Formats: sequence, structure tokens, C-alpha cells
Amino acid sequence: MKLNQECTMLQTELRKFAQQVILDKVAELDTSCGLPSDNIQRLAEMGILGASVPEDMDGAALECIGLVVSIEEIARVCSSTATIIAAHNALFTYPILKYGSDAQKKKYLPPAATGEQVGSWALPETNEITVSKQNDTFTVNGRNPFVLNAGFNGPLILVVPTGDQPETMTAFVVDPGNKQIEMKNTHNTLGLKAAGIGALTFNDLVLTPRDVLGTVDGGRAVLETARDYMKILTAAISLGIAQGATDEAIKYGKERIQFGQPITTFGMVREKIALMATNIEAARNLTYEAAQQFDAAADYHKAAAVAKYYAGRSAIDSTNEAIQIFGGYGYMKDYPVERYFRDAQVINVLCSTPADDKEFIAKHTIG
Ligand SMILES: Cc1cc2nc3c(=O)[nH]c(=O)nc-3n(C[C@H](O)[C@H](O)[C@H](O)COP(=O)(O)OP(=O)(O)OC[C@H]3O[C@@H](n4cnc5c(N)ncnc54)[C@H](O)[C@@H]3O)c2cc1C
Repeated sequence: MKLNQECTMLQTELRKFAQQVILDKVAELDTSCGLPSDNIQRLAEMGILGASVPEDMDGAALECIGLVVSIEEIARVCSSTATIIAAHNALFTYPILKYGSDAQKKKYLPPAATGEQVGSWALPETNEITVSKQNDTFTVNGRNPFVLNAGFNGPLILVVPTGDQPETMTAFVVDPGNKQIEMKNTHNTLGLKAAGIGALTFNDLVLTPRDVLGTVDGGRAVLETARDYMKILTAAISLGIAQGATDEAIKYGKERIQFGQPITTFGMVREKIALMATNIEAARNLTYEAAQQFDAAADYHKAAAVAKYYAGRSAIDSTNEAIQIFGGYGYMKDYPVERYFRDAQVINVLCSTPADDKEFIAKHTIG
């Protein structure tokens, strides 16, 4: 699929930045579970944190396809950094742009675009909370054990049930530094060690009408908007992971000599690489297609689910095959393929599971 000139330039710029700057600290951050704060700041200066934000609010107003190629290049080197960027854009700035009042846009979008604040999001399915209503305010108690970007202690979009029906929910925006929210870093994940994942505890958190994003009881629309955009960006993360693992497998395979020849001359290894390359090409076409449908304001929802499902599958399969091409060394921490393998597993739970995606695709196909 042909990219326009702006996208190609962005892709080149991000590839250079990822290979020359991000790569340097990937292994260290994976071990220390540190936050890639310096790189996030530099990516903000390149417009990537403000990709969904209009220019008059300090954003870069990039098309979705521009953000997709950027995230793909970042994930090719560091999936944690790519996931921070994806969550910030799809789960924080974009829903505020779509549903926020003028005051909310003015308050939250400029600091999010400049990287002064990194946003996060707590899903209703993951929240383990109780909500009580007093007139027009809601009090929340409980926790959410998995929140991406929580480590940045930035603003949060929290979607909570506000009616008798499970479908009735309201989205709220909560300011950074709210004393009723306690954050604890989560370091015991399988992968995405540097994505600032944290557990949030809500202690009598009071949400007022001023904090509502969109309308009271209108949270489902906010949730679906954010989730569908995140599916496209998750497909881009998957693409980057699959490509990064394949690059490493080819490099290693050319250097590894067995029976007097590089292992890339053996048919079975060649077949693996051919299938990895084919899956990546197909996933890339589906992902770019979903992004272009989004940019054309077409009905992109099914395309987003298809891209996320297929690209996610291809990331998991490609990282598995890459480990195999490394043989015993694939099992060791000395090479980056084990990190790609661990990071790829998150795709199966990030914003939707494959079961959710397949159900969604079936519903939009069968009717
Ligand atoms: C690294 C990471 C980052 C995350 N970031 C965030 C975040 O920023 N914010 C946030 O709120 N949450 C976040 N989450 C939580 C994530 O969104 C959930 O883990 C995910 O949605 C799955 O929900 P669950 O864990 O409750 O699984 P469950 O819903 O308990 O599902 C368990 C299994 O059962 C299957 N299943 C469930 N229901 C059905 C059904 N009806 N039919 C068929 N199969 C079904 C699922 O596919 C899955 O395989 C994160 C999780 C991880 C691991």
C-alpha cells in the first residue's frame, strides 16, 4: 500500500530515531522496569504525543496513518514506548477531542500534546469498584490492577457504571495529583516492562458533573470510540513487534553457521522466514487499510477489529518462530527475541481479546 510523502518522511524520521536513540536503552529499561521519560519527551517534541491534537492546541494534527507508521517504527525497537504513545493518543487525547467540552479540551489537550502530561484510562471491565450516587455526584471505591501509563501520574479517564443496566456507564476525567487515587507500579508483568503499568486504588474518589466526559450515562460511546481507535494502534504495535523479531531472526540466521553454512540456507528456516514475511505484509495492508478508512471518516470499526486480530496473531506467531530460529539462544536473555516474544503476548488482552475481536467481526459480517 502506497504511503503519501508526509507519511514516508515521518516513517523515515521515526525509524532513524528508534534505531539511533530508543534502541540504546531498551534492554536496560526492560530489566529495570524504568519509564522511557526522556524518549517520550523527545517524541512529544516530534509531535507524536500530540498526534490527535489540533495545531491550535499545540498538537501535530496527524492523520491516523501517520501515527500508525510512527508507532510501527517505535514498536520495531521498543514495544513499551510504542504502547505508551498508543494509549496516550487513543485512550486519552482522542476521546477528549471527540467528547470533551471546550473547557476540557483547553485544559487537557495542550499539556498532553507537549508531553507535560501523559494520559491513561481505566476500563469498566477491569475496574473492581463500587460506585455510589449522591444527587449528581458519584463516589468511587475500589481498584484497577492494570493501567497503562499510570507510572506517569498524569490525568485519567475513568469509565464507571452509573445505572442499573451493565451498559449504562459514564466517562469522567480526573486531574493528576488527585489525593483520592493511589498509584502502585506493577513490575511483575510478563512483558511491556517499561510501559508504566500501575495499579490504581480509588479511596472515596468523588466525581462531579464538571468531570463528566460526554454525557452522564453516555460512557459507552466514549468507550467504543477509544477502543476502536486503540485497535488500529494496537495492530501497529503488533506489526512493529513482528517486524522487529523477524529482522533479528534474519540477522542471526545469516551469522549462525551449522554444517558449514548459514542456517538461512536451510529450507525449513527459509520457509519460516517466508511465512513471517507474508504474514507481516498481510497485517500491514490490513492495518494501513483500517487507518485510511479512519482518516476517510468511513465505517472503520470492522476493519479495525480485523487488523487488530490478524496483526496480533502475526506478532505472536512471528515472535514464536523467531525464537525457534535462534535455537537454544532464543531461550536466553542475551538476545532481544525473548523480549519481543514476551511483549507480543499483551496483544491478546490489550483493549480486546481475540475472542472479543472474532465476535465483533462475526457480528459485523453476519449481521
Ligand atoms: C499489560 C496490560 C495492560 C493493560 N492496560 C489496561 C489499561 O490501561 N486500562 C484498563 O482498564 N485495563 C487494562 N488492562 C486490562 C485488560 O484490558 C484486560 O485484562 C482485558 O480486557 C481482559 O480482561 P480480563 O483480564 O478481565 O479477562 P476476562 O474477561 O476474565 O477473560 C478471561 C478469558 O476469558 C475469555 N472470555 C471472557 N468472556 C468471554 C466470552 N463472553 N466469550 C468467550 N470468551 C470469553 C477471554 O477472551 C479471556 O481469554 C491491561 C492488561 C494488561 C495485561
